[in-house]
Amino acid sequence: MTVRFDAIVIGTGQAGPPLAARLSAAGMKVAVIERKLFGGTCVNTGCIPTKTLVASAYAAHLARRAAEYGLAITGQINVDMKRVKARKDEVSGRSMQSVESWMRGLSNGIVYHGHARFESARTVRVNDELLEADKIFINVGARALVPPIPGLDQVRYLTNSSMMDVDFLPQHLVIIGGSYVGLEFAQMYRRFGADVTVVEKGPRVIAREDEDVSQAIQEILEGEGIRLRLNAECISVRKKDDGIAVGLDCAEASREVTGSHLLLAVGRVPNTDDLGLDKAGVETDSAGYIKVDDQLRTSASGIWALGDCNRKGAFTHTSYNDYEIVAANLLDRDARKVSDRITTYALFIDPPLGRAGITEAQAKASGRKALVGTRPMTRVSRAVEKGETQGFMKAIVDAETKEILGAAILGVTGDEVVHLLLDIMYAKAPYTTVSRAMHIHPTVSELIPTLLQELRPMT
Ligand SMILES: Cc1cc2nc3c(=O)[nH]c(=O)nc-3n(C[C@H](O)[C@H](O)[C@H](O)COP(=O)(O)OP(=O)(O)OC[C@H]3O[C@@H](n4cnc5c(N)ncnc54)[C@H](O)[C@@H]3O)c2cc1C
Repeated sequence: MTVRFDAIVIGTGQAGPPLAARLSAAGMKVAVIERKLFGGTCVNTGCIPTKTLVASAYAAHLARRAAEYGLAITGQINVDMKRVKARKDEVSGRSMQSVESWMRGLSNGIVYHGHARFESARTVRVNDELLEADKIFINVGARALVPPIPGLDQVRYLTNSSMMDVDFLPQHLVIIGGSYVGLEFAQMYRRFGADVTVVEKGPRVIAREDEDVSQAIQEILEGEGIRLRLNAECISVRKKDDGIAVGLDCAEASREVTGSHLLLAVGRVPNTDDLGLDKAGVETDSAGYIKVDDQLRTSASGIWALGDCNRKGAFTHTSYNDYEIVAANLLDRDARKVSDRITTYALFIDPPLGRAGITEAQAKASGRKALVGTRPMTRVSRAVEKGETQGFMKAIVDAETKEILGAAILGVTGDEVVHLLLDIMYAKAPYTTVSRAMHIHPTVSELIPTLLQELRPMT
């Protein structure tokens, strides 16, 4: 028997639940399908647990620096990994439960727990039931990429998901991948007390950022004793004694790192391979991401794809924004679209990197005339008072339109301060709106007007 709905939502990531709630509130009968943990990656294996762990790591770091602030903490600072994990589980678990009870409490909704697969463009099978609807929304997310590294099938390795079960301190954590996920785990585990080595195939970490940003991040991490092995162009792994050896160069066997545990942080793959998309006529790109238009419609009419699986973003806020776009178009007669949004994200090491818009390198490549302002955090009074002066801030401005093109705030509260510039970008206001504003002293934001008063032509 086929159960008939007005809408089916597959996956409870960051877009599915709010969309299901809106559709249900609009009087539609909605099926919500989740195969694993409610709330998906962000809630269970991504943002929320990692930022909770980052907070524990920050506390440990600050405690070790206590003497610098005039505090006498006698004895060694020990990290109890079981309690660190319990705190993380508590925060994450509460969030997961609240998504589940929200979905189960929808007035016009029915929750199905199981793996969903399309049988046609209008029907989806979950467990033994066949569900049918004219509108189907895919929010299936992504998972850690496990690349074909020689020897990987012979060793045990961790991913961002299995890291969530770690309640002990690895003696030496080797992380393959020097980008956002890898660097957050690297600093966190170093601060918990592990030896940490990051193996990166490129010449610098976090290579999508400007070189000066990569360089500053590299210095911050190396300053804490994290070893970076760059230019590892040919990576292999093998068992060695009780641990794992990671070869960095296929020609030179001596170039290797030995650690006790291995974490893979080399990218993500969309959860679209076992979804029956071909039966629904939903097209994907060569990497399996679902092709969508500016309003997130797939190639099959009546089917939308939201969140990480559509390659329009890889963040919680992009997924949530996808929900807002779809809901606005379907329910509010408001033609919102993906191309209206401005790139923004953060790297949550300490100090964090807050990013908005384009990089200086992208501005150069575009050939436009631009102005650039930079300021080290050592010249930000609040950072000096807090004893957290690592990093710098940078803004890029269009020399002709005077609009802000991009910003990188690497420094204490950089993840918050960057929004000040982001919102001016959304307003399409000239940078002088901020450079002439009076801000509160002493804050990090106070120096943004000064940063914009000291712009110079980009070379
Ligand atoms: C370690 C890490 C840290 C991160 N930190 C941040 C951060 O600080 N800030 C940020 O903005 N982003 C962060 N992200 C990214 C963020 O987690 C994702 O972008 C976000 O969760 C959006 O995902 P989503 O909505 O596409 O789906 P997901 O959250 O991935 O959820 C998809 C859901 O669909 C379910 N599902 C999949 N297939 C099926 C199926 N066939 N049937 C039924 N259910 C199915 C899955 O079980 C899952 O629950 C991080 C990611 C990682 C890995």
